[in-house]
Amino acid sequence: MHIGIAGVGLVGRVLVLNLLRQGHTLTLFDEDSAYGDKAAGMTAAGMLAVFAELETAESEIFEYGKRSIVLWPALLKQLDIVEAYQQKGSIITAHPQDYNELEHFIETLKSKVEEASQIELLDKAGIAVLEPDLEQHSKAFYIPHEGQVDAQRFMKVSSDYILSHPNVIWHQETKVQEVKEGEICFSGVCERFDWVFDARGLGAQNQVENLRGVRGEVFWLDAPEVNITRPTRMLHPRYKIYIVPRPNNRYIIGATEIESEDKSPMSVRSSLELLSAVYSMHSGFAEARIVNTLTNCRPTLKDNLPTITQGEKITRINGLYRHGYLLAPAIVEQALNKGVYQ
Ligand SMILES: Cc1cc2nc3c(=O)[nH]c(=O)nc-3n(C[C@H](O)[C@H](O)[C@H](O)COP(=O)(O)OP(=O)(O)OC[C@H]3O[C@@H](n4cnc5c(N)ncnc54)[C@H](O)[C@@H]3O)c2cc1C
Repeated sequence: MHIGIAGVGLVGRVLVLNLLRQGHTLTLFDEDSAYGDKAAGMTAAGMLAVFAELETAESEIFEYGKRSIVLWPALLKQLDIVEAYQQKGSIITAHPQDYNELEHFIETLKSKVEEASQIELLDKAGIAVLEPDLEQHSKAFYIPHEGQVDAQRFMKVSSDYILSHPNVIWHQETKVQEVKEGEICFSGVCERFDWVFDARGLGAQNQVENLRGVRGEVFWLDAPEVNITRPTRMLHPRYKIYIVPRPNNRYIIGATEIESEDKSPMSVRSSLELLSAVYSMHSGFAEARIVNTLTNCRPTLKDNLPTITQGEKITRINGLYRHGYLLAPAIVEQALNKGVYQ
């Protein structure tokens, strides 16, 4: 089939990888360049927090998440970057005055899914074994099976792969005005396809009802004095932060969650909160260098859940909110199973 895809962000790329494996010919459209940074998928920390996200999410997210964790390694193998996937579990901790909050968080997870009983309580000695750099903390929980995808590496290498693939035409810096049954419209013309996908994330607001942006801000720090090897969260009554390790002493510190579609640079308040929290977690961050600050918006629907809608020659996938990496492979698999692409 000749398939058109509007939006080559996270969902668009996972679609492309699957559809190329099935032998289709693809024409892609994105308002950004292939290596640009407009996609939320480019800003994301890439955590696969299948349990931790349950605090505020439905168990549907948990089921999709478990499936994505199975599917990610094959996608990354297709790109020849298996090392961009890590599944060593994650750590969640808090300051002593917030231990009640930490206990409550874990109890909430346990009340939602039975598998959360595998979450392990760690004392100081247990923390020292798993993450020696965090041994100043005397209580934490280890969440097995969680992991991360190096999101920025996935985005970059998938661009290389797609651009060099003989079965793909990629119209970069081409804003799509409308996606309808079997047609993608841009620059006043509509191109016809056997099937089309709308994967424009927040850019589909003109065609997807109740779609909103939820602002998120992250720091990139260069911290040679810190050696944390797993995604690590700290609970706090006012904010929740995570530290996600990347190669070469780099750490992503995030993320704020603000009901706003403003993509302007990080605010003073957010930067104070994120940096104070991270410094209180590990004093080695004091001399870290701030290498970047990024802001983007998560495409989110009313119920904060993802949606797949399908017509006769069109599929729209949207609303992946703060779970894009956790959900995309499983959601795309489900969307393709609904269609005529077997
Ligand atoms: C700060 C932050 C941290 C995050 N951390 C995580 C995390 O740790 N784990 C996790 O699972 N998820 C995380 N996410 C969420 C994840 O990034 C999103 O859920 C995911 O990127 C949504 O994928 P998408 O393809 O729908 O949208 P996007 O990735 O935003 O892609 C949409 C694409 O469509 C293009 N586009 C838009 N409008 C048009 C148009 N009119 N014409 C042509 N092209 C268009 C855009 O240029 C873009 O390339 C995070 C998000 C943010 C902002």
